[in-house]
Amino acid sequence: VAGLPETELSRLRSPQVGSTEQHGPHLPLDVDIRISAHLCREAAAAASAPVLVAPPLPVGVAEHQMGFAGTISLSPESFMGTLYDIGHSLVRHGVERLAIVNGHGGNEAAVALVAQRLRLEGGARRVIYCSGWALSAAAFEPLRESPPGGVAHACEYETSVCLHLCPELVDAAAAVREVEEVAVEGTRFDLLDPGPYGAAVGRDFSRSGVQGDPTLASAEKGRVACEGAVAALARLLDELAADR
Ligand SMILES: [Zn+2]
Repeated sequence: VAGLPETELSRLRSPQVGSTEQHGPHLPLDVDIRISAHLCREAAAAASAPVLVAPPLPVGVAEHQMGFAGTISLSPESFMGTLYDIGHSLVRHGVERLAIVNGHGGNEAAVALVAQRLRLEGGARRVIYCSGWALSAAAFEPLRESPPGGVAHACEYETSVCLHLCPELVDAAAAVREVEEVAVEGTRFDLLDPGPYGAAVGRDFSRSGVQGDPTLASAEKGRVACEGAVAALARLLDELAADR
Protein backbone atom coordinates (compact mmCIF):
# COMPACT_ATOMS: atom_id res chain seq x y z
CA VAL A 1 0.00 0.00 0.00
CA ALA A 2 1.49 3.29 -1.05
CA GLY A 3 2.47 5.59 1.76
CA LEU A 4 2.47 2.99 4.52
CA PRO A 5 5.67 1.35 5.71
CA GLU A 6 5.71 -2.44 5.36
CA THR A 7 5.65 -2.99 9.11
CA GLU A 8 2.35 -1.19 9.44
CA LEU A 9 0.43 -3.44 7.13
CA SER A 10 -0.46 -6.31 9.40
CA ARG A 11 -1.04 -4.29 12.52
CA LEU A 12 -4.26 -4.45 14.43
CA ARG A 13 -6.68 -1.61 14.58
CA SER A 14 -9.32 -1.41 17.27
CA PRO A 15 -12.30 0.69 16.21
CA GLN A 16 -14.08 1.82 19.36
CA VAL A 17 -17.73 2.66 19.36
CA GLY A 18 -19.98 4.21 21.95
CA SER A 19 -22.87 6.59 22.30
CA THR A 20 -23.75 10.13 23.29
CA GLU A 21 -26.82 9.81 25.45
CA GLN A 22 -28.38 10.68 28.77
CA HIS A 23 -26.97 8.85 31.75
CA GLY A 24 -29.29 10.05 34.48
CA PRO A 25 -28.78 13.21 36.55
CA HIS A 26 -25.34 12.23 37.88
CA LEU A 27 -23.20 11.15 34.87
CA PRO A 28 -22.01 12.90 31.67
CA LEU A 29 -23.40 12.13 28.21
CA ASP A 30 -20.24 10.47 26.92
CA VAL A 31 -19.96 7.62 29.43
CA ASP A 32 -20.11 4.83 26.85
CA ILE A 33 -17.43 6.14 24.49
CA ARG A 34 -15.30 7.32 27.42
CA ILE A 35 -15.20 3.76 28.77
CA SER A 36 -14.55 1.97 25.47
CA ALA A 37 -11.88 4.52 24.44
CA HIS A 38 -10.10 4.00 27.76
CA LEU A 39 -10.20 0.21 27.41
CA CYS A 40 -8.84 0.39 23.84
CA ARG A 41 -5.96 2.71 24.73
CA GLU A 42 -4.91 0.73 27.81
CA ALA A 43 -5.28 -2.70 26.19
CA ALA A 44 -3.32 -1.59 23.12
CA ALA A 45 -0.48 -0.55 25.43
CA ALA A 46 -0.69 -3.77 27.47
CA ALA A 47 -0.84 -6.21 24.53
CA SER A 48 2.35 -7.88 23.32
CA ALA A 49 1.28 -7.55 19.69
CA PRO A 50 1.52 -4.14 18.01
CA VAL A 51 -1.95 -2.60 18.18
CA LEU A 52 -3.12 0.70 16.76
CA VAL A 53 -6.27 2.34 18.05
CA ALA A 54 -8.64 3.97 15.58
CA PRO A 55 -10.42 7.22 16.48
CA PRO A 56 -13.60 6.70 18.50
CA LEU A 57 -17.07 6.77 16.97
CA PRO A 58 -18.83 8.77 19.69
CA VAL A 59 -22.46 8.39 18.61
CA GLY A 60 -24.45 5.22 18.20
CA VAL A 61 -27.93 3.73 18.00
CA ALA A 62 -29.70 5.28 20.97
CA GLU A 63 -33.35 5.53 19.91
CA HIS A 64 -34.34 3.81 23.14
CA GLN A 65 -32.92 6.79 25.10
CA MET A 66 -34.48 9.55 22.95
CA GLY A 67 -37.16 10.05 25.61
CA PHE A 68 -34.47 11.83 27.64
CA ALA A 69 -32.84 15.14 26.66
CA GLY A 70 -29.19 15.10 25.65
CA THR A 71 -29.33 11.89 23.66
CA ILE A 72 -28.09 11.93 20.06
CA SER A 73 -29.03 8.90 17.99
CA LEU A 74 -27.95 7.62 14.61
CA SER A 75 -30.38 5.48 12.69
CA PRO A 76 -29.18 1.85 12.58
CA GLU A 77 -28.49 2.37 8.86
CA SER A 78 -26.32 5.47 9.46
CA PHE A 79 -24.43 3.82 12.30
CA MET A 80 -23.81 0.61 10.40
CA GLY A 81 -22.73 2.48 7.27
CA THR A 82 -20.33 4.69 9.25
CA LEU A 83 -18.79 1.84 11.23
CA TYR A 84 -18.43 -0.25 8.09
CA ASP A 85 -16.76 2.61 6.23
CA ILE A 86 -14.29 3.16 9.09
CA GLY A 87 -13.35 -0.52 9.17
CA HIS A 88 -13.25 -0.79 5.41
CA SER A 89 -10.98 2.24 5.13
CA LEU A 90 -8.48 0.48 7.38
CA VAL A 91 -8.76 -2.72 5.34
CA ARG A 92 -8.07 -0.73 2.17
CA HIS A 93 -4.78 0.39 3.75
CA GLY A 94 -3.78 -3.21 4.32
CA VAL A 95 -5.09 -3.87 7.82
CA GLU A 96 -6.13 -7.49 8.10
CA ARG A 97 -7.45 -7.85 11.65
CA LEU A 98 -10.00 -5.68 13.39
CA ALA A 99 -11.35 -5.68 16.92
CA ILE A 100 -14.48 -3.59 17.48
CA VAL A 101 -14.86 -2.59 21.13
CA ASN A 102 -18.37 -1.45 21.98
CA GLY A 103 -19.46 0.58 25.01
CA HIS A 104 -23.20 0.90 24.34
CA GLY A 105 -25.94 -1.72 24.60
CA GLY A 106 -28.01 -0.20 21.79
CA ASN A 107 -25.15 -0.83 19.32
CA GLU A 108 -24.84 -4.55 19.96
CA ALA A 109 -26.95 -5.95 17.13
CA ALA A 110 -25.56 -3.45 14.60
CA VAL A 111 -21.92 -4.10 15.61
CA ALA A 112 -22.40 -7.85 15.12
CA LEU A 113 -23.81 -7.32 11.62
CA VAL A 114 -21.06 -4.87 10.61
CA ALA A 115 -18.35 -7.22 11.89
CA GLN A 116 -19.79 -10.00 9.78
CA ARG A 117 -19.99 -7.74 6.73
CA LEU A 118 -16.40 -6.50 7.13
CA ARG A 119 -15.23 -10.11 7.23
CA LEU A 120 -17.38 -11.47 4.40
CA GLU A 121 -17.59 -8.49 2.04
CA GLY A 122 -15.06 -5.94 3.29
CA GLY A 123 -11.89 -7.95 2.81
CA ALA A 124 -10.86 -8.23 6.47
CA ARG A 125 -9.17 -11.48 7.40
CA ARG A 126 -10.37 -11.56 11.01
CA VAL A 127 -12.93 -9.38 12.79
CA ILE A 128 -13.91 -9.75 16.43
CA TYR A 129 -16.21 -7.60 18.52
CA CYS A 130 -16.82 -7.30 22.21
CA SER A 131 -18.50 -5.09 24.80
CA GLY A 132 -16.76 -3.28 27.63
CA TRP A 133 -19.09 -4.53 30.37
CA ALA A 134 -18.66 -8.16 29.25
CA LEU A 135 -14.87 -7.74 29.38
CA SER A 136 -15.26 -6.39 32.93
CA ALA A 137 -17.68 -9.03 34.15
CA ALA A 138 -15.26 -11.54 35.71
CA ALA A 139 -13.48 -8.83 37.71
CA PHE A 140 -16.57 -6.81 38.65
CA GLU A 141 -19.04 -9.54 39.61
CA PRO A 142 -17.35 -10.48 42.93
CA LEU A 143 -17.60 -6.82 44.04
CA ARG A 144 -21.13 -6.27 42.84
CA GLU A 145 -23.69 -5.52 45.55
CA SER A 146 -26.88 -4.75 43.59
CA PRO A 147 -29.56 -7.35 42.81
CA PRO A 148 -30.50 -8.35 39.24
CA GLY A 149 -31.51 -5.13 37.49
CA GLY A 150 -28.87 -3.10 39.33
CA VAL A 151 -26.38 -3.06 36.43
CA ALA A 152 -28.05 -1.72 33.30
CA HIS A 153 -27.61 2.00 32.56
CA ALA A 154 -25.97 4.79 34.60
CA CYS A 155 -25.87 1.98 37.14
CA GLU A 156 -23.59 0.45 39.77
CA TYR A 157 -21.11 -0.58 37.04
CA GLU A 158 -21.05 2.56 34.84
CA THR A 159 -21.02 4.91 37.82
CA SER A 160 -18.17 2.98 39.44
CA VAL A 161 -16.10 3.15 36.25
CA CYS A 162 -16.76 6.90 35.96
CA LEU A 163 -15.79 7.44 39.60
CA HIS A 164 -12.48 5.80 38.67
CA LEU A 165 -11.92 7.48 35.26
CA CYS A 166 -13.48 10.94 35.66
CA PRO A 167 -14.64 11.59 39.26
CA GLU A 168 -14.83 15.32 38.54
CA LEU A 169 -17.73 14.63 36.14
CA VAL A 170 -19.80 12.55 38.59
CA ASP A 171 -22.41 14.30 40.73
CA ALA A 172 -22.75 11.54 43.32
CA ALA A 173 -25.32 13.49 45.34
CA ALA A 174 -27.70 13.42 42.34
CA ALA A 175 -27.51 9.64 41.85
CA VAL A 176 -30.83 7.87 42.28
CA ARG A 177 -31.62 4.16 42.48
CA GLU A 178 -34.09 2.78 39.93
CA VAL A 179 -34.31 -0.96 39.86
CA GLU A 180 -37.35 -2.23 38.04
CA GLU A 181 -40.04 -3.67 40.23
CA VAL A 182 -41.39 -6.45 38.07
CA ALA A 183 -43.98 -9.10 38.68
CA VAL A 184 -42.30 -11.84 36.68
CA GLU A 185 -38.83 -13.05 37.61
CA GLY A 186 -36.39 -12.91 34.71
CA THR A 187 -37.84 -9.81 33.09
CA ARG A 188 -35.38 -7.36 34.64
CA PHE A 189 -32.88 -5.82 32.26
CA ASP A 190 -29.32 -6.26 33.49
CA LEU A 191 -26.09 -6.02 31.46
CA LEU A 192 -24.35 -8.78 33.38
CA ASP A 193 -27.35 -10.89 34.37
CA PRO A 194 -29.79 -10.54 31.47
CA GLY A 195 -33.21 -12.09 31.59
CA PRO A 196 -34.99 -13.37 28.50
CA TYR A 197 -36.41 -9.93 27.65
CA GLY A 198 -34.69 -6.76 26.43
CA ALA A 199 -35.60 -3.19 27.39
CA ALA A 200 -36.88 -1.66 24.15
CA VAL A 201 -37.41 1.94 25.26
CA GLY A 202 -35.74 3.54 28.29
CA ARG A 203 -38.75 5.75 29.17
CA ASP A 204 -40.83 2.62 29.68
CA PHE A 205 -38.55 1.47 32.47
CA SER A 206 -37.10 4.59 34.08
CA ARG A 207 -38.28 7.96 35.37
CA SER A 208 -34.84 9.46 36.04
CA GLY A 209 -32.90 7.95 33.13
CA VAL A 210 -31.12 5.58 35.50
CA GLN A 211 -31.62 1.84 35.19
CA GLY A 212 -29.91 0.20 38.12
CA ASP A 213 -28.35 1.26 41.39
CA PRO A 214 -25.63 3.92 41.13
CA THR A 215 -25.80 4.54 44.90
CA LEU A 216 -23.72 1.38 45.41
CA ALA A 217 -20.94 2.56 43.06
CA SER A 218 -17.35 3.18 44.18
CA ALA A 219 -14.12 4.23 42.51
CA GLU A 220 -12.49 1.03 43.77
CA LYS A 221 -15.10 -1.14 42.01
CA GLY A 222 -14.48 0.92 38.89
CA ARG A 223 -10.72 0.46 39.10
CA VAL A 224 -11.06 -3.33 39.45
CA ALA A 225 -13.59 -3.47 36.59
CA CYS A 226 -11.33 -1.45 34.27
CA GLU A 227 -8.18 -3.38 35.08
CA GLY A 228 -9.96 -6.69 34.54
CA ALA A 229 -11.36 -5.52 31.22
CA VAL A 230 -8.02 -4.17 30.02
CA ALA A 231 -6.28 -7.49 30.81
CA ALA A 232 -9.04 -9.47 29.08
CA LEU A 233 -8.96 -7.24 26.00
CA ALA A 234 -5.16 -7.35 25.79
CA ARG A 235 -5.32 -11.18 25.80
CA LEU A 236 -7.99 -11.09 23.12
CA LEU A 237 -5.88 -8.79 20.93
CA ASP A 238 -2.84 -11.03 21.31
CA GLU A 239 -4.92 -14.07 20.34
CA LEU A 240 -6.27 -12.18 17.35
CA ALA A 241 -2.74 -11.25 16.28
CA ALA A 242 -1.49 -14.84 16.66
CA ASP A 243 -4.42 -16.48 14.86
CA ARG A 244 -3.19 -17.47 11.40
ZN1 LIG B 1 -23.85 3.83 29.22
